[in-house]
Parts: sequence; structure tokens; C-alpha cells
Amino acid sequence: MTATIIDGKLAAKNLRAQLTESVAKLKADKGVVPGLAVVLVGEDPASKSYVTAKEKACAEIGIYSDDNRLPEDTSEEELIGLIHKLNQDSQIHGILVQLPLPRHIDENKVIMAIDPDKDVDGFHPVNVGRMNIGQPCFLPCTPHGIIHLLMINNIETKGKHAVVIGRSNIVGKPVAALLARKAEGGNATVTLCHTATKNLADFTRQADILVVASGRPNTVTADMVKPGAAVIDVGVNRVEDSSYEKGYRLVGDVDFEAVKDVAGWITPVPGGVGPMTITMLLYNTVQSATMKAQC
Ligand code: NAP
Repeated sequence: MTATIIDGKLAAKNLRAQLTESVAKLKADKGVVPGLAVVLVGEDPASKSYVTAKEKACAEIGIYSDDNRLPEDTSEEELIGLIHKLNQDSQIHGILVQLPLPRHIDENKVIMAIDPDKDVDGFHPVNVGRMNIGQPCFLPCTPHGIIHLLMINNIETKGKHAVVIGRSNIVGKPVAALLARKAEGGNATVTLCHTATKNLADFTRQADILVVASGRPNTVTADMVKPGAAVIDVGVNRVEDSSYEKGYRLVGDVDFEAVKDVAGWITPVPGGVGPMTITMLLYNTVQSATMKAQC
């Protein structure tokens, strides 16, 4: 069997085309331009490239992006002061603080400072709570993107066994919660695995849907996958490779080459989950502006 490759780039392109129309309509009908404030502290090269990609994506679909690049030695107080200012700014519908922050800044305090109605990353405890009790909220971008990919590829989740590897607050736990929700794209029976899980393969081999977010290459090998399963590889890992101009290539957490011969569906890295993450950030920002325009 050769798996169907789930094309995240195409899914993202299609959704962005719909969002472009929504943005144009919002502007024409209500005179509202969705605004996203992007906050980056420090010079981390990976964070810089993520922020640049997010701002470029905003520009492409007509979202106004407000660029806030702060030096590494910015104090927690200064950063929270900026967030309070952005909370009050009526042109800003979403606030994104690029993580990780420098060590001297408490991430939790910063997330808590964001107005939950502008928390387009879906990390504020109010949104986490709303998601878990099924109230309207901003869904976290990567998990939401994963559910979207499953749904548009007609991969049934209802009554299926979904196994998630990883229990981080940004991927593993929320994706497990969404898969278990009594809602479309949910209704799965979910098992959440982590480093204390004994005999990981015993669980993964039972999975109809296997979501892998361990941050370690080759966490899942072909012998760990049930034939025909949908395998969603969230991992993004740099592996040294001198044949690439940058000196490295990106790989996921799954042994793609071997697993694609066993699975029914598989996401590639790059080009699978990654493009959906930024798209869902745009989606949340447009949703926030739309809700504001209706007030
Ligand atoms: P994280 O915070 O490092 O969490 C990794 C999780 O995996 C932890 O819960 C850890 O268990 C578990 N784990 C690690 N090795 C394992 C193993 N061998 N067996 C079972 N469980 C294991 O990572 P994250 O932030 O969730 O990110 C995961 C990966 O996704 C990373 O590669 C990251 O770069 C990528 N990512 C991609 C996107 C995207 O848009 N494509 C977005 C976010 C993250 P413990 O809790 O027991 O330590």
C-alpha cells in the first residue's frame, strides 16, 4: 500500500483564498481591515523567520500586520506594557507573541496579559478552558489545522481510535481534546502518549489516526503503524545535510519513507501540517475582526 499524501500546501492555499474573500467583504461591507499585531523579542533566527512568514501571509490576504520587534533585553514589564496598549488598540484584532521568549520573561504572565478576545494563538487559559468545555473560542492553530486536514480529506474520526504522541500545551493536549470533542472532526476515542508511556508501539499499532508531536525524528517507524492508518506528522526537526544549501534539511517525527508504504494517509514534512498553522492564525484573526464588526 502507498499512502495518500495529505497536501497541506494545497489545503492552506484553498483556505487562504476563502479568507482573502472574507477580508475583502469585511472591508467593503463594514470598513474593517483585520489587524494582527506580531511581537518578537530578541534575535532567534528561527523565530525571526516564523514572524516574517506570518507577516507575509497577512499581507497576501489583506490583513494589516503591526510589526513589533523588541530587543533581547526588553523587560517583562515593558513587554506586558506593550500588550496592554495593543489590547486597547481598536485596529488590532489579534495579538501574537512569538514563543519562546528570552529566559528572563515569564511566558505565562505574558500570555495572561493578552485580552482573550484577541488571543488568536488560542493559548490564554480562558480560550483553553472554553475549548475544553465546548464554548466558542479561538482554537490553537496547529491542532485546528490538523483537524481541518483530516476533515477535508474525508478521514473519518467518529468512532475511530486516535493516538496522539506528545502532551505539550500547544500541540499534543489540545489536538487530543479536539479529537475527543462531541463535534465534527471529533468523536474519536483518544489515547495520549508521552515519555512515560510503556510500550509505545502497542498503542500506535491500534491507531486509526496517529498524530505524532514528539519533536524527535523517527519516533514512529513502519512497524509501529497499523496498515491503512492516517498518520499526521507534526514534527519539524533540522537534520544536518551538507547537500542542502543551508547545511540542513527538515524532517518530521515519523520515518516518512518507510511509513508511507504502510499508512493509508500521511502528511509530509515540510508541506503537511506546517502550512496549516499559519493559515489558522489568519483564520482566527479574520474571525476576531468579523466578531468585532458585528458588535
Ligand atoms: P514539546 O513541547 O517538546 O513536547 C514533546 C512531547 O512529546 C512531550 O510531551 C514529550 O513527552 C513527548 N515525547 C518526546 N519523545 C517521546 C517519545 N519518544 N515517546 C513518547 N513521547 C515522547 O514539543 P511540541 O511543542 O509539542 O512540538 C512537537 C513537534 O512539533 C516539534 O518538532 C515542533 O517543532 C513541532 N511543531 C510543529 C508545528 C507546525 O506548525 N508544523 C507547530 C508546533 C510544533 P513528555 O511530556 O513526557 O516529556
